[in-house]
Amino acid sequence: MNYSSTRGGDECLVSAGAIIAGIANNGGLFVPKQIPTLNQSAIEALSALSYQERAYAILKEFLTDYSEDDLNFCISQAYCSDKFDDESIAPLQSLDDHNHVLELWHGPTSAFKDMALQLLPQLMSKALKMTGETAQIVILVATSGDTGKAALEGFKNVDQIKIVVFYPNDGVSEIQRMQMVSQSGSNVTVVAVKGNFDDAQTGVKNIFNNDSFNQVLNGHGYQLSSANSINWGRLVPQIVYYFSAYADMVQNGAIAAGDKVNFVVPTGNFGNILAGYYAKQMGLPINRLICASNSNNVLTEFLQTGIYNRKREFYRTISPSMDILISSNLERLLYHITNGNSAQVASWMADLQAHGQYDVGNQVLKAIQEVFWAGFAHDEQTSRTIKEIYDTYHYTADPHTAVAWHVSNCYRKQTGDTTPHVILSTASPYKFNCSVLSALTDEKSLMDRNEFVMLEELAELSGIPVPTALAELKNAVIRFTQVCEKTEMEQTVKQLLVK
Ligand SMILES: *Cc1c(COP(=O)(O)O)cnc(C)c1O
Repeated sequence: MNYSSTRGGDECLVSAGAIIAGIANNGGLFVPKQIPTLNQSAIEALSALSYQERAYAILKEFLTDYSEDDLNFCISQAYCSDKFDDESIAPLQSLDDHNHVLELWHGPTSAFKDMALQLLPQLMSKALKMTGETAQIVILVATSGDTGKAALEGFKNVDQIKIVVFYPNDGVSEIQRMQMVSQSGSNVTVVAVKGNFDDAQTGVKNIFNNDSFNQVLNGHGYQLSSANSINWGRLVPQIVYYFSAYADMVQNGAIAAGDKVNFVVPTGNFGNILAGYYAKQMGLPINRLICASNSNNVLTEFLQTGIYNRKREFYRTISPSMDILISSNLERLLYHITNGNSAQVASWMADLQAHGQYDVGNQVLKAIQEVFWAGFAHDEQTSRTIKEIYDTYHYTADPHTAVAWHVSNCYRKQTGDTTPHVILSTASPYKFNCSVLSALTDEKSLMDRNEFVMLEELAELSGIPVPTALAELKNAVIRFTQVCEKTEMEQTVKQLLVK
C-alpha cells in the first residue's frame, strides 16, 4: 500500500515513510492510494476476536510494509492492561435498543486521544528501524489540553524520539496542567507559554517552517515531526474501533450481521469521524456518519451548504477539545469524495489560505450528504443533555459526549430514521469534572472548588471510581516549571537540544 499527497505531486511513500514524515512536502496530507475492503464474512469474524486481534485485522490492510510480528508487537505494547483500565479497551455500553455509547477514554490519560497516541509512538519507532533513519526524532506539540498529555504518555521513554509539549499558561484546566507538569519519562519536556493556545500553535508552526533553524537541528542529528491528527499514523488506529463497536453489537445481539448502524461523533479536527468514513468505505455497514459540533459550528455549516468559512467568531465552550475553526482532516475527505482530484483539493486549500473560505459546489456537497449529516449544540443544550442522560439512564457523560447525544436526538427528530445509534464518547467525565458537576447539580459557581474535592463528588454521583491516574495527581511531584514568552519558543527548543 502506497501513500500520496492530497494535493498531488510525485511523492509516494510506504506507510513507515508517511508516518515519520507526518505531512507531505507540498503541504498536503498522506492518503492511501486505494481503500482496502473487508467482505461480510471477514467483518462477521471480528465478533469472536479480542480488540488487539481486531486491530491487527484492520491495520494489516493499510500498513502492508510492517511484518506481522512487528505489527502485533506494536499493538500489544499499545493496548495492554497496564495502560487501559478495561480489558475490552473500547467497551460499548448499550443504554437501550437505540443508543449505544462507545467509550474511548479507558486509556492512561482518560481521553480518546489515547486510542491513537498509544499506538503512534510504537509505529514510529518501528518505522525508524525499518527505514534505517538515524536521526533523533523530535516531536513538537502545541496543546489545548488533551493531545499534549496523551502524546507525552505515548512517547515517554520511546527510543530515538524526544517530545516537547507547549501549553498555554492560563489556557488549560487544572487537572490537565497537573497531568502534564508531573509527566514521567527521560525524553520528555513540558513548557508553559505566556499566551493562549493560538500563540503556542503559531510558535510551533513557525519552528517547523524555519528552514535555517531546521538545518541547525539536522546538523546536530535531530529531525522534527508531528503527533497531531494530520499524521496517518494517528488516523489509522481510529478505524479499528468502528469495526470493534459493530462486532460487539453483533455479538451482544443488538443487531444482526449486515444490519446498518449510524455513528454520532463529537468533532473538532475531523480526524475521528474521518476514520468512520474509511470504515464505511472498507465495507462496514454504516448508514450515516453524524457530525456533532459545539457553538464553533463551522462544520455544521459546511456539511449543510458546501461552504467552508473560517472567518467567524471563536467561542470558548465547555467542550474545549472541539473549539476549533480549521478542521484539517476534511482535506482527506475532499480528496476521496472527488475520486482523488488533487488539483481541485489543492485549489480549495489555496482558497482557504488566501480568503478564509472555499465552496465545493452542489455536486460534491450532494455526494458528501449521502454519507454525512451535521448538527451542533450550544453550551446550555450540552449541560441540559448531561443532566437528561443522567436522569434517564444513570449514566454520566462528559460534555463532548453530550454534544453528540444532543445532535443524535436532533437527527432522529428531523429525519425519522430509526437506525440504531452508536455515540462516540471521547472523554471521561472526570476530565471535565467542573462542567459535569455543575450540569448535574445546577450549581453555577463551582469555579473555586478544589479539583480533588470535585473528583470525589463526581464519583459519588456517578458511582464509577475516579481513574487512578487522575486521583494520584494529588500527590504527584511537579517536574516541569519552565515558563517562556511566546517569542522565546524556538530559543527554548534550541537550548534543550543544542545547548
Ligand atoms: C480531540 C477531541 C475531540 C475531537 O476529535 P477530532 O478528531 O479532532 O474531530 C472530541 N472530544 C475530545 C474529548 C477530544 O479530546
